[in-house]
Parts: sequence; C-alpha cells; structure tokens
Amino acid sequence: MPTIYHDKDADMTVLRGRTVAVIGYGNQGRAQALNMRDSGVQVIVGNVDDDYKAAAAGDGFTVLPIAEAAKAAQIVVLLLPDEIQPAVYNEQLGPHLGGGDTLCFASGYNIHYRQIVPPADVDVILVAPRMIGQAVRNLYAQGRGFPCLVAVQQDASTRALPTALAVAKAIGATRLGAFRSSFEEETLIDLFAEQMLWPGILQLCLLYHEKLVANGCDPDVVTNELYLSGEFVEIAKAMITCGFFEQLRLHSHTSQYGQLSRANRMAPPALLEVVDGVMGELRSGAFAREWAAEQAQGLPTLKRLWREASQHPMAASEKRLELLRTTMANWIG
Ligand code: NDP
Repeated sequence: MPTIYHDKDADMTVLRGRTVAVIGYGNQGRAQALNMRDSGVQVIVGNVDDDYKAAAAGDGFTVLPIAEAAKAAQIVVLLLPDEIQPAVYNEQLGPHLGGGDTLCFASGYNIHYRQIVPPADVDVILVAPRMIGQAVRNLYAQGRGFPCLVAVQQDASTRALPTALAVAKAIGATRLGAFRSSFEEETLIDLFAEQMLWPGILQLCLLYHEKLVANGCDPDVVTNELYLSGEFVEIAKAMITCGFFEQLRLHSHTSQYGQLSRANRMAPPALLEVVDGVMGELRSGAFAREWAAEQAQGLPTLKRLWREASQHPMAASEKRLELLRTTMANWIG
C-alpha cells in the first residue's frame, strides 16, 4: 500500500509566521491561492503586470512583481506553465531564495530533468493536485477534497515533508488523500499518460471514425457514438464507482464477451515496442531535450501537428454537430 496522508496527518502550524508567495495566477495559481487564504495562510501573489495580475488584485491579494514576491516570502509556490518556469526561476526567483526557504512545485518536470537546480540549503517540495485548477477551487469551496501527490526532493530544514503536507491540507487535498510520491514518479506518470495513454486513445478514436465511415456509416452518427452521446463519460464514472473491470457488468453480455475476448488483440508485440520506446525517451531525458529544442525553434512541429489535427474529417463532423455538443455540455455541466 502506498502511504496516503489525510487531514489528521498534516499540521498547518508549520506555516505559521511564514508568507507563501504564489507565483502565477492561472489555473492552479488562482485556485491554490484562494484555498490557502481561506485556510488561514498568509498568501501573496507574484505576477507580471497584465490581466492575471488584475484578477489577483480583484480577488483581494497583494500582488507584487515576481522577484519582489519571492523576496517577501519564505515559501514560494511556483505555478507558472512548466516551459516558462526555468527562465523565470533563473532571472527572478533563484537570486532571492535563501537558507530556510521552501520552493514548492505542482509538477515534477523541471526538477526531475534538472531544468531548475535550486541551491542545496533550500527545501524543494512537490504538492501536485490530480485535478484541474477550477475543480481544485470548486471542490474546496464545497467542503470536498481531491487527490494529490506530495514529495520531497531536498530537505535542508528537516521540515520539508511537514511543510508539503501543510500546503496539501491548506489547498484541500488531504481531505481526500495525498499520496507520498517522488518528483521522478510524478513526472513519469504525467508524461506517460500524455505520450502513451491519451495518444493511444486518440489514435483509436480516429481509426474507429475512419474505418466506420469507410464501411458506409454516417460520419456524424459515428462522432455521436464515439463520445457525444455522453456514454463515454458515464463509463468513466462507473469505473470510479464500480471499478475498472466490474463496470463491464453494466454492459450487455455481447459487449462483455466482445471486450474481454478481443482485448489482447489490441496489444500486439509491435505496440509494446512503441510503449517501451516512449518510456525509454522519458527515462533517458530524450523527450525533455526534444521539447526544449522545439520551444527554442518557436514550436514549428507543434504548429504543424495542430494544422493536421484540425483537418481530420472528425473535426468537420464536430462542427456540424455543434448544437448537440452544446446541449450535452450543458447537461453534463
Ligand atoms: P497556467 O497556464 O494557468 O499559468 C498561467 C500563469 O502563468 C499566469 O499567471 C500567467 O501570467 C503566467 N505566465 C505565463 N507566461 C508567463 C511568462 N512568460 N512570464 C511570467 N508569467 C507568465 O498554468 P497552470 O496553472 O496550468 O500550471 C501551473 C503548474 O501547475 C504547472 O507546473 C503545471 O504542470 C501544474 N499543474 C497544472 C494542472 C492544471 O490543471 N492546469 C494540474 C496539476 C498541476 P501572465 O499571463 O500574466 O503572464
């Protein structure tokens, strides 16, 4: 069993007398700043001078330029997009971090791939919600929680873990459960889902669409069957309530037989080689180097891939079904 921490395992008095600077007021930044403040933590926001800064000020926070916020705080929670973090850290945060300070991340990427290397006398912790920012705020406001991962990379002060647990409690995560993890594990589970699981699902959905249309089915009926009907969402919910396998019992016997008897066919040796290749690129750092080079060149490949994706026939079908999509979106909230 992994170690899972709950509210009773976290003591927020470790945050007493320490100011938390939330750097970035986007998806996670706004949600975590508001939750921590409502939990009684002294929070300021560091942001550049634009709309996000205005939003933070509108929510009643003291908003400072990023370097000044870091200087004024003892705990810096870095909630900028991962690809922006190294430059902002090197220019505006690193110089203001000193012994006794804590640097907190919501993603393991930049520490694991050494894009950011903090000084040895700074605590480096991870509090990574497994939840989108908007829900982090909404669930907290409803008195509910969400899962997160906590980890310690550097423990200069000997209070790094208690600090991570206190932050996890302040944002509402330990109400449900905080899994003890590592920066490496968080990075791998995140990137492996992004590069193996979701592309696999995406590719199978496109193949499903292409093959059925090629066999005479109406493209819009196929798009509806794929996900628009909302059945996909109901199956995902049933996985939580019943379990991954047990939800199969909610399907017809024909469906159960079809799914279980054909599942192995979908993982031929050639696919397992691809899966190992993805994992190899993550473990060796090859993907991190490729992504850094892509960013340095102005994202030419990402732009081309987006152009290609938006030209797929399913994209045209989705446009035709806009009314149905809007209705379903309203129903599922
Ligand atoms: P966002 O994209 O929402 O961050 C936006 C913030 O970053 C704004 O405050 C924006 O301010 C600021 N920003 C963007 N570019 C710059 C720049 N060049 N210089 C200075 N500030 C900049 O980030 P997320 O909340 O999505 O992600 C934050 C962290 O949380 C990441 O580590 C991510 O991996 C992690 N995470 C995210 C989750 C999610 O649901 N999104 C889930 C779990 C973890 P401005 O525009 O004013 O410059």
